[in-house]
Amino acid sequence: MGRNKFKAPKGTRDILPEEAKKREYIEEIAKEIFQLYNYQPIITPLFEKTELFIRGIGESTDIVQKEMYTFQDKKGRSLTLRPEGTASIVRAFLEHNFNQKPFPLKLFYIGPMYRFERPQAGRSREFWQIGAEAIGSIEPAIDAEIICLMIEYLTRLGLKDFTLLLNSMGCPKCRLSFIKVLEKYLHPFKGELCPDCVRRLSTNLLRIYDCKNKNCLKILRQGPIISHFLCEECLSHFKELQALLTQEGIHFQIEPFLARGLDYYTKTTFEVRSPYLGAQNAIGGGGRYDGLIEELGGDSTPGIGFAIGVERLLLHAEVEKIKIPQAAKPKVFIGLVERDLKREAFKILQDLRDASISAEMDFLGRSLKSQIRLADKLGVSFVLFIGPDEMEKGVVKVRDMESGLEEEIKKDNLIFSLKKKLSVKDGGNNES
Ligand code: AMP
Repeated sequence: MGRNKFKAPKGTRDILPEEAKKREYIEEIAKEIFQLYNYQPIITPLFEKTELFIRGIGESTDIVQKEMYTFQDKKGRSLTLRPEGTASIVRAFLEHNFNQKPFPLKLFYIGPMYRFERPQAGRSREFWQIGAEAIGSIEPAIDAEIICLMIEYLTRLGLKDFTLLLNSMGCPKCRLSFIKVLEKYLHPFKGELCPDCVRRLSTNLLRIYDCKNKNCLKILRQGPIISHFLCEECLSHFKELQALLTQEGIHFQIEPFLARGLDYYTKTTFEVRSPYLGAQNAIGGGGRYDGLIEELGGDSTPGIGFAIGVERLLLHAEVEKIKIPQAAKPKVFIGLVERDLKREAFKILQDLRDASISAEMDFLGRSLKSQIRLADKLGVSFVLFIGPDEMEKGVVKVRDMESGLEEEIKKDNLIFSLKKKLSVKDGGNNES
């Protein structure tokens, strides 16, 4: 095993600085859009009582059946690392009496989620989601807003090659008749379905839509379609949503088999798919959850939300060659000509930072030659030489790393002069 005895646990990985910087950028753009649409940030705990997810996500879902990281704390309480964001947000909504606030209450979150899944490209056990929830409105316009928000975000990042799929799962009322018909249709195929689907037949029929088995899917796709069973209210809601999206120039495809893996969805469900991500092709998705808040003990309150997977978003962005700004480099390096002047050098370093000029120096006692090599590697624009001659004259020697030209600048004038030089360099190049 060698010296590296410890590795990140299976299904997790370190996000190293280069990728972390990209994530900072996509988070920044997300926050800009959320602000534009008046969504406020919320941060909930990484773990919750297990019961919350069983009740919220649904006993018979894949997440609850197979994928939760559940553990007991030292007092024997059952806790679970959050596998998704909505249940926690609804729990917070109820705990803090958010129903007193003006509706719709609009919230967003960015953070890690945990699912015990078999890791593969685009699927890990720890992954991040950027998500939004709008609670308290039944209007199709809020469904349209949430979808527009998601699409505008992806578009603003520069993504082009994705497909928005749309469906309506109806409400419990219209589902009742659909489930009966579906059950009747599936019964003769019982011997051909996978063991999971056979279990679903008797536990929660609609979860059959989560199956990835080709044969099950084939059977399902030849069967009844939920949108043919929508009640009048669900149908007009769905039609109005489509009209609003069309009005906004948002392209979508109706996908009658889009159920998504959670029990709580009602009416609208949607998903953004990438052509580049193989089996894990959903960049993000969401839907309406009009029964969830009541299920978790609140008054009947409608809601809708989405979540985008950050890792899949980045994988897709890479294929589309989306330009994500590089990590900012320090602008100035302090080159120490003589060790005795360390204190002066450190003072200048901190003065530069106080003036918002990113700066670096050597902390390992390198020779001047290797300090300059380091400065070169860091890609700084200027190196300042601090030597005894310069100190005596009250100046600093400044080398422009691009042209190699050097000049002496009075210490009193250093910050002003560097700022001016840096702004000339930055002109036409905003990679700061
Ligand atoms: P869901 O909460 O299942 O609707 O997932 C929303 C989004 O989160 C998906 O479209 C993915 O982008 C992302 N996601 C879900 N599960 C995983 C996972 N195990 N690994 C990476 N990303 C995931």
